Amino acid sequence: MHPLILLPAYLAVTVAPLVLSWLQDLPPRPFWDEVSSGLAMAAFAIMLAEFVLSGRLRTISGSIGMDVTMRFHQLVARTALAFVLLHPFLYSTPFGRALPWDTTGQLSLGLDTASLASGVIAWVILPGFVLIAVLRDRQPFRYETWRLLHLLGAVVVAVAVTHHTLAAGRYSADPWLAGFWLLLVTTAVGSLAWSRLAAPLLKARHPYEVCGLRRIALRSWELGIRPIRGPALRFRAGQFVWLNIGHSPFSLHENPFSISSAPAQRPEIRFVVKEVGDFTRSLGTVAPGTRVWLDGPHGNLTLDGRSAAGVALIAGGVGIAPLLGIARQMLAEGDRRPLVLLYGNRVAGQIVYGDELAALADRPATRVVHVVSEPAADWTGEVGQIDRAIVERVFGPEGAADWLYLVCGPPAMIDVVEDALTGIGVPSGRILSERFYYD
Ligand SMILES: Cc1cc2nc3c(=O)[nH]c(=O)nc-3n(C[C@H](O)[C@H](O)[C@H](O)COP(=O)(O)OP(=O)(O)OC[C@H]3O[C@@H](n4cnc5c(N)ncnc54)[C@H](O)[C@@H]3O)c2cc1C
Repeated sequence: MHPLILLPAYLAVTVAPLVLSWLQDLPPRPFWDEVSSGLAMAAFAIMLAEFVLSGRLRTISGSIGMDVTMRFHQLVARTALAFVLLHPFLYSTPFGRALPWDTTGQLSLGLDTASLASGVIAWVILPGFVLIAVLRDRQPFRYETWRLLHLLGAVVVAVAVTHHTLAAGRYSADPWLAGFWLLLVTTAVGSLAWSRLAAPLLKARHPYEVCGLRRIALRSWELGIRPIRGPALRFRAGQFVWLNIGHSPFSLHENPFSISSAPAQRPEIRFVVKEVGDFTRSLGTVAPGTRVWLDGPHGNLTLDGRSAAGVALIAGGVGIAPLLGIARQMLAEGDRRPLVLLYGNRVAGQIVYGDELAALADRPATRVVHVVSEPAADWTGEVGQIDRAIVERVFGPEGAADWLYLVCGPPAMIDVVEDALTGIGVPSGRILSERFYYD
């Protein structure tokens, strides 16, 4: 779906309850009461839309990219939290049960015990829920445990808010608004059912197996998989998949990895995996033939469908993975556009596929620049980190406006590179980046 459709569609969903309330033409209440109801309804719409913005729907993440999807998910979650926290304090109409003769809800907020309880539950749980998500990296539990808690927390909050809105909401008794909420709740449940039930069922019909695993650099592995039956996944160079190795297709044990091989190299699909934690450190023990399930392809760090007079690939560490896929596909297709690869590592031993990259540099109009921050005595390449100075030195202003710049690596490097590129006149629309961070 085109990004220019997604944003208006999202705004329409969050504003629709306000419009549907206004159209009811109920007698007005004090200004801040109306603001409070409006904030609460907008927050409810945002919360339900968050299920769709979880990054697992390819229609969305394939269009605007995983990074933008997840940053948006976080930003609007904080906005919804602020609205919810303010909501009970803005009313001047007294709290209390609905009075039989007060059909337009002007004299009291009409809260019975159940609707008050569901409102309080959501109001108490939501801040903790958002805080735990914001501070995820500092928590002692495993990533999969956090994911399960996040999922369950989201469902509990959504159920409580749905009950509170339908039972206590002055405007939500209206059939049009109630119908709108029903549609939104169904969409949220549908997207959950898709990612946790339907997508795993589809995965289960296309099993893969590990067909190659070898260490290719310090703390880095090349993992190869191939379909056991049927054709291999169709993907665009630079995209990523969720890999589930050796668990049930319904398991939460799945990690995102960029495909480092080119679509032209199918049916085998390869990855570069860096050891960082539980799963990646145990990868070396995976036996050939182990079952693998794929969810994807996801992401939009790709050249396909974009015009570019030249291609700049900027990788920090294992961020090379998707960019390798792109370079390999360019070679396979005989793409003759100029290509510059800037590839940073801490030490030279971390460079993956050194020989292949040296051969790539022999291609016409191609440059491969290695940067190492802790060089050995015999290192002859660039020294330092990928920073503004090196970006300016390697790329310069020529071609800035019509090349495409694809950046992948640690978040801090991406920020520096994006700033440096815009500094030399690259329009932000010509920079595509992906952080290896999903939250
Ligand atoms: C779009 C994308 C593409 C990626 N591509 C690559 C790649 O090509 N090569 C590579 O080496 N790494 C890649 N990563 C990073 C990789 O997913 C994590 O390093 C890996 O999941 C860590 O798992 P762990 O159990 O070994 O580490 P842990 O110590 O458990 O986790 C380290 C960090 O990795 C992330 N992480 C852990 N488990 C998951 C999970 N199940 N789902 C999502 N994130 C998780 C969390 O941020 C966590 O804090 C990519 C990440 C993203 C978001």
